[in-house]
Amino acid sequence: MKLIPIPAFVDNYIWMLHDGRRALVVDPGDSEPVLAALQDGGLTLETILVTHHHNDHTGGVDALRQATGAKVYGPALEHMPEPLTRLNDGDVIEVLGLHFEVLLVPGHTAGHIAFFGQVPSQDPVLFCGDTLFSAGCGRLFEGSPAQMLTSLTRLAALPDATRVCCAHEYTLSSLRFALAVEPDNADLQAYQAKAQVLRNQHQPTLPSSIALEKCVNPFLRTHLPSVAHAVQRQAANATDAVSVFAALRTWKDQF
Ligand SMILES: [Zn+2]
Ligand SMILES: [Zn+2]
Repeated sequence: MKLIPIPAFVDNYIWMLHDGRRALVVDPGDSEPVLAALQDGGLTLETILVTHHHNDHTGGVDALRQATGAKVYGPALEHMPEPLTRLNDGDVIEVLGLHFEVLLVPGHTAGHIAFFGQVPSQDPVLFCGDTLFSAGCGRLFEGSPAQMLTSLTRLAALPDATRVCCAHEYTLSSLRFALAVEPDNADLQAYQAKAQVLRNQHQPTLPSSIALEKCVNPFLRTHLPSVAHAVQRQAANATDAVSVFAALRTWKDQF
């Protein structure tokens, strides 16, 4: 199985997984780069997975369905381009002979889902849309801080080696904020240097891993004194887990 981030728009990635013959794509906001990748690889698009309703994740679904006949799966609770199979938390689907588990991860949008897949003799994959970014997380457009904290905690509990396939290349700007929160975090400093080299070469910084995110992502680290104390210097009334997380997200929004 080969995992490829197809760049789209300014900073989106449309993730493709293929076995040399059949392919799936995740969140195709645009059909053109996907059709080009299918043609280049001599691949048949079997399945389209969608994490949430934003147009930069759904805009290419209709054109791809028409061009390829691919089956579309998406969240049960959101407005979606029809027809599709709607998925709820805990559902398991079989795609390309692999099993993907659906996790409901509200926060960025109210019905956002993520797909966790086991890949034989490879590390697992997580397609997390705009919920978890490398060193960051999605903005809270529709959900509450408590919901997002619960969603991110579920993702952080996945196996350490899981390849984290985020839908945007936000890593460098997320790292600038993460270093403002934890300037003394050596893992963060090392990761920033590595990510900067990759971006200078126009390479993706993704996929990340759950193990790395637990070391560098402040939104997965709000339970640690280094993050909580930094947040409390901005918002003294942030004492419990949810208020620390909420104040961290607000700080990032204003950063
Ligand atoms: Zn979004
Ligand atoms: Zn997006």
